[in-house]
Amino acid sequence: MHLLGKNWIIITILMVFLNASPAWAQQDRFAKVEIKSTDLGNGIYMLTGAGGNIGLSTGKDGAFLVDDQFAPLSDKIKAAIAEHSKTPVRFLINTHWHGDHTGGNVNFGADGAIIVAHKNVRKRMSTEQFIEAFNSKVKPAPDIALPIITFTREITFFQNEQTINVIHVSNAHTDGDAFVYFKEADVLHLGDMFFNGIYPFIDTGSGGGIDGVIAGLQQALDISTQNTKIIPGHGYLANKQDLQENILMLKQVRRIIGALVEQGLDADQSVAADPLAALNEKWGKGFIKPELMVRIVHADLSKTEMDKADHTAH
Ligand SMILES: [Zn+2]
Repeated sequence: MHLLGKNWIIITILMVFLNASPAWAQQDRFAKVEIKSTDLGNGIYMLTGAGGNIGLSTGKDGAFLVDDQFAPLSDKIKAAIAEHSKTPVRFLINTHWHGDHTGGNVNFGADGAIIVAHKNVRKRMSTEQFIEAFNSKVKPAPDIALPIITFTREITFFQNEQTINVIHVSNAHTDGDAFVYFKEADVLHLGDMFFNGIYPFIDTGSGGGIDGVIAGLQQALDISTQNTKIIPGHGYLANKQDLQENILMLKQVRRIIGALVEQGLDADQSVAADPLAALNEKWGKGFIKPELMVRIVHADLSKTEMDKADHTAH
């Protein structure tokens, strides 16, 4: 029963994140998806459909896109872009490698968009990946879908009268995360470092970790103002206060699970202790359920503890 429950969680999340359901199921699922635009001012929009939230900047230089959801949605996404922009996508930023943020690369790349991402995004998309938390393999992407410009720390674009900073955050949701700041418009796109209002997925098998997520969100908070509009990787459009609450929750989770790891509790014992009970009502209703949140953070912090032990041993 326990195993069955866990498999069900895994299958559901795989479908959400990795586009891993059979073709017929995908078609059916994506057929019903509508792309909705939220106007954030200064020619910038948040587009939502299925998968990671999209950021769009429009203006005299052409459409500038942050993430692109799943390939079967590309035509609908292009139609939504065309409502706001006379020109197609010139630059496409990937906030990280996951398929619910890069699935459309294959189509936008074929249209001539210049795809830009942290170097580890190209590296992971070029080779078969293994998602530890879901025990799942992901095939390499075709060449046309790969970022053709990569960076290590940050890269700045001057487009549509915006200074657009794309800033790498190390070992957060993955090892290739970047967040995007449209400076003049005061709009942030935080990718999957930020799941607004729900527990986040942290891909520990791709070099992610909760300490990196907290550090990255803190970095974003430091440049936020009361007026900053914040596009999360998943969830509703957010503001500075939402970001502050999220960081507070993650720090609590980190402290609670960290204490269990220090006490020597294994993953099953930690789950049985129901350590996040006080937080679950508010944060546990997204696609990362309380049990999986405990397992992911436990695995992450156990690794950290082992690394520490390794260091002291040498
Ligand atoms: Zn992701």
